Amino acid sequence: MEVVGRFAPTPSGRMHLGNVFAALVAWLSVRSRNGEMVLRMEDLDTQRTSGEYAEVLRQDLAWLGLDYDRETPPQSQRSGVYDVYFEKLREMGLLYPCYCTRSQLHGVNAPHLSDGTYVYPGTCRDLTQAQRDAFGRKPAWRVKVPEKLWELEDKVQGHYGLDLATDCGDMVVRRADGVYVYQLAVTVDDGEAGVTEVVRGMDLLSSAPRQMYLQELFGFPHPEYGHVPMLLAPDGRRLSKRDKDLDLGELRKRVTPEQLIGTLAYAGGLIDQKCAVSARELAKEFTWDRLKGDSIYLDAAQLG
Ligand code: GLU
Repeated sequence: MEVVGRFAPTPSGRMHLGNVFAALVAWLSVRSRNGEMVLRMEDLDTQRTSGEYAEVLRQDLAWLGLDYDRETPPQSQRSGVYDVYFEKLREMGLLYPCYCTRSQLHGVNAPHLSDGTYVYPGTCRDLTQAQRDAFGRKPAWRVKVPEKLWELEDKVQGHYGLDLATDCGDMVVRRADGVYVYQLAVTVDDGEAGVTEVVRGMDLLSSAPRQMYLQELFGFPHPEYGHVPMLLAPDGRRLSKRDKDLDLGELRKRVTPEQLIGTLAYAGGLIDQKCAVSARELAKEFTWDRLKGDSIYLDAAQLG
């Protein structure tokens, strides 16, 4: 079966090195097997994202030499499609309205997973209609999760699993303001685009079991997963869009795409010596087993 991979950037700023590294590995995995690459803008948060950033992202991917075969519509235009899947969950009897406030949710439990997620204790699961009406405000919507271990063999992180009932609790799929959440949108979009391989940053590893559950409910096959290590500043901080000196706006002024890709490939274990190299060259030699699983430390001085 042909591999179908994807870039799923959030157009809320310039790509930083961590985004570039994840995009590079996603692209190498697909292109080394003559697969298909899909681009999708994840702009559910319309306050933080913009069409201008989306355009700059496309230009940055082109500058890096990371091409794609098709772009699917951005998430901000797909709420009508998400409605259909939301209704499926309702028909399955799995949806219920949740009126808990943020402070209530955070008050009951300490963060559970290392990603800071709280386990939802099911407070609103069995409310009566009268109790629901008494809140007098719009609810968020949760999907009930079963007691079941969702396991995967990640291409980088190895064996991983979560029991959603004990590790996460019933999941919000739609916020009180009507906006669908990432987990639902990404599952529908990847499923409808026929994505067979999801490659992204390690910070999203705990999302994979959540998405596997929704894939099963919606009838999509599970893709393969590769969660690549995070890029850290020398002091151990995770690089983010706030690190302006390491975003592509700054980097494009002082390094070539080949220098940047060579530095990342060397830091990630894909090549033995640091040298300038194009993504296309790297694709000839790419194998998943060379990629390091540990965090990658990098500072601006290592570039160029
Ligand atoms: N949109 C997410 C990001 O930019 C990636 C989501 C995903 O790859 O599933 O971090």
